[in-house]
Amino acid sequence: MLEKLQGILKSSVNFPSPPAIAQQIIALAADPDIDLVRVATTISKDPGLTAKVLRVANSPLYSKRRKSDNLRQALVVLGLNAATTLALSFSLVGTYRNIKGAGVDYLRFWRKTILSASAARAFAEQQRVAAAEDIFLAALLQDLAILAVDRVMPDFYQGLPKDCAHTDLCAYEKSRLGIDHAGLGSWLLGQWRLPETLCHSVEWSHAPSACEAGTRAGIAAACVALGGECVEMLLATQAPTDIGELAQHAEQWLGLDAESLAATMSTIVAEIPEIERLFDTALLPAETAAVMLEQARELLLIRNLQALEQVTTLQAATADLEARTSALEDQHRRDPLTGLFNRGHLDHVLREEFEAANKGGWPLSIVFIDLDRFKAVNDTYGHPAGDHVLVGTAQRIMTVARATDCVARYGGEEFVIVLPGLDSANAETVCRRLIVRLRKTQFAVQDATITVTASLGLATHQPDKPFAGVAQLLEAADRSVYAAKRSGRDRLVRHDPDHRGAHPGHATGGGLPRYSSP
Ligand code: GH3
Ligand code: MG
Ligand code: MG
Repeated sequence: MLEKLQGILKSSVNFPSPPAIAQQIIALAADPDIDLVRVATTISKDPGLTAKVLRVANSPLYSKRRKSDNLRQALVVLGLNAATTLALSFSLVGTYRNIKGAGVDYLRFWRKTILSASAARAFAEQQRVAAAEDIFLAALLQDLAILAVDRVMPDFYQGLPKDCAHTDLCAYEKSRLGIDHAGLGSWLLGQWRLPETLCHSVEWSHAPSACEAGTRAGIAAACVALGGECVEMLLATQAPTDIGELAQHAEQWLGLDAESLAATMSTIVAEIPEIERLFDTALLPAETAAVMLEQARELLLIRNLQALEQVTTLQAATADLEARTSALEDQHRRDPLTGLFNRGHLDHVLREEFEAANKGGWPLSIVFIDLDRFKAVNDTYGHPAGDHVLVGTAQRIMTVARATDCVARYGGEEFVIVLPGLDSANAETVCRRLIVRLRKTQFAVQDATITVTASLGLATHQPDKPFAGVAQLLEAADRSVYAAKRSGRDRLVRHDPDHRGAHPGHATGGGLPRYSSP
């Protein structure tokens, strides 16, 4: 059936091929050496066409300032490519508009086609496409095959309802002909030797997503398709309830948000009177257009708000998730009893700070703290009292550290302070302060008040006396703690890098742990 149809169309009996003047313009447009004189000569052969080109050149759609009195000026104002494309548009519309058919409402067809073309052009301008007229022409011709089929097969469309949706129409054509009017139209225009890009725009006008997004062909097909969808909505007899699909396509095909779509639709509606003047036809009553536009705007606004709401909800959920994740992460780094960092995180910090100290060439001090005779606290006052003392001690240690230092619970009653950038002398000051602070701290346990002391071991990784690694540095601090224990507890022993092991000569403090009762 399709081959037969194509055969008939080729013979131009029922459906004429473009008139001679249009064919000459097509040939001109295909010529890369197009020149003003030839275009002017060709167009001026048809006085009606000449008048139209002049009218377009003076239309506010094309010329904001200059007025053209003759064809030459008009061609300059429009540019040769745009002028030939527009001349072709008028010539073809003029030819096919007067062909009456059987199953197609011709008035409605041309109303819709001219409006669609004008809408496609508005989208093209919005996208700043260089040759918006090419898209205008493609949109004008996108449905031409409907007329062709109607002429050759007068019964074909008769069974369909007058306001049949475009997608239903295509489905019907495909089921009967194996091709829809976009595919057939593209073939027909190819027969007429119209440019290939134009044929492609028509062919993909129903499925722009089949083209690669952002390519010239993709944008052209999208402008044509959106123009069509927009006009279907404007011409609808009821409120445009399915604007969601149009908005989605605008976003998907051209990256237009609801606001830009509403703005482009306003442009389309505002240009209707001028397009009506250029094509000598009534397209859409201004009031109807205004009402439809207002409804469309409202729906788009609601859609926009909904999208905004979705984004806000999503953002809140993400922030909440992030907060919970970071709280969870922090939890993983903390010791549940004291809230200090745990051993795992300490290892991580030590590795990082050791590397940073090496790179930066600054010292890194670490203090190992072991509470004195802590077992006795548990034995005397019970484990919960011991816990209470551990928590209080942790708080005291925090008070001597800076915000950038890391205080961790190493194990049972053992703590570590990492002091990045502090040399041995400055770290010793911190240690002394802690020893004094602990001695002064009184813990209330059961009916008693007790004081707990600690033995401290200090080791410093410094550029001139470096440690091989974190393990050696920790070990040195730990050994110093034992030295402090051996020499009487409640004191500090500083690791002496010049001697093997801790240096007992640096012990500070003295005295035995004291438990005092009220
Ligand atoms: P030294 O001065 O030699 O360090 O004596 P010490 O008693 O502190 O040393 P030892 O290592 O023998 O005892 C540590 C005690 O710390 C044993 C244990 O009962 C207590 N301990 C460890 N972890 C906790 C804890 O989470 N809560 C309580 N309450 N006690 C703990
Ligand atoms: Mg211990
Ligand atoms: Mg201890």
